[in-house]
Amino acid sequence: MSQMPDLDGGDPSPHGFWRGTGAALAEAHVLLGERDPETALRISGVLRAHGAATVHVVASAGDFLRAGADPPEPVRSWDVAVWDAGLSEDEAALTEVLGRWRAQRPGVPVVVTDDAPSAPRAVAALRGRAADLVERADHEGLAGVVARVAAEHADPLGVEAAGQNTLRMLVVGAHPDDVEIGAGGTIHRRTHSGWDVTILTMSRGGGGGDPARRRKEAHRAAEVLGARLLMEDLPDGSMADDRVTVQAVERAVAEVGPDVVFVHSESDTHQDHRAVHRATLVACRKVARLVCYQSPSATVSYRPNRFVELSEADMEAKLAAIAAHHSQASSRWYLDEDLLRSTARYWGRFSQTRYAEPLELVHDSTPLGYYHADYA
Ligand SMILES: [Zn+2]
Repeated sequence: MSQMPDLDGGDPSPHGFWRGTGAALAEAHVLLGERDPETALRISGVLRAHGAATVHVVASAGDFLRAGADPPEPVRSWDVAVWDAGLSEDEAALTEVLGRWRAQRPGVPVVVTDDAPSAPRAVAALRGRAADLVERADHEGLAGVVARVAAEHADPLGVEAAGQNTLRMLVVGAHPDDVEIGAGGTIHRRTHSGWDVTILTMSRGGGGGDPARRRKEAHRAAEVLGARLLMEDLPDGSMADDRVTVQAVERAVAEVGPDVVFVHSESDTHQDHRAVHRATLVACRKVARLVCYQSPSATVSYRPNRFVELSEADMEAKLAAIAAHHSQASSRWYLDEDLLRSTARYWGRFSQTRYAEPLELVHDSTPLGYYHADYA
């Protein structure tokens, strides 16, 4: 058995971020992929010494992904994962395991360890969107990086620093099912990471079926996504960007107090969608961030510049929410599962993930330094 590392003495490592902020690793759950049991023991010891609640060790890509998908008791979710590049056969395999990890756990960062970090490895780690690359023998340095990455994961937006507990999102759509199609995966992703999400549907969809039935379906769909539903009763097919529409959105903004609002794009062939877009622009002039999702009737002028990566679970939830609109599901071409999946798959190319939803950022008045990629 080799000697345990000196936990408290010695020179601060070049990655010594944890010094002075040692609480960052407190109660963190860490999944550690490491090929050598003795090294795993030493790394676990160092991480625990810095406050990690759990360090679960695995030694293969299969076990790593399985533990990622289904953490062992009592862990509910991982805060950070560490992957030994030596467990991947080559650079392509390294990128692949990181990509698969992100497909199932998009929000959980992975730190890659390597015997001697090389340029090809670094590129492969970057391609797989690793949070950082650390020399495998530098356990203290690793602990520092893990602490920093875990802290960023726990509070990616500096929300606590901003004095806010929960982020709130308002998603506005003209008709029942618009929001699910445009942003269902993102809504699911956000509600599952603690956001408070409210859907505002401006009409009861009388133009496409029985309003009472559509109302029930809309509630069911919101429930599937973990969101709250507000419904207005504007005339389906003849909405205007007038005072009535603006005030309807203003009421929801006043009630929700959103950090970000999602709405249809201006680049849309449907007159109701454009009217709701314009009314929302006016109603949200004081909201920090406004983005537009893609409706089935969006034109080729729709130009997204943000891409929210979706896990398989987000994609499934989106499809389930859309399927909740039974009265529409069989008669509308744009509700076809193959089309919905392949659309999300296509946008995935821009975030280098399997699935993504695109967003057009209209305005963003969040203070500098507050920005985070996930805060679309
Ligand atoms: Zn619509």
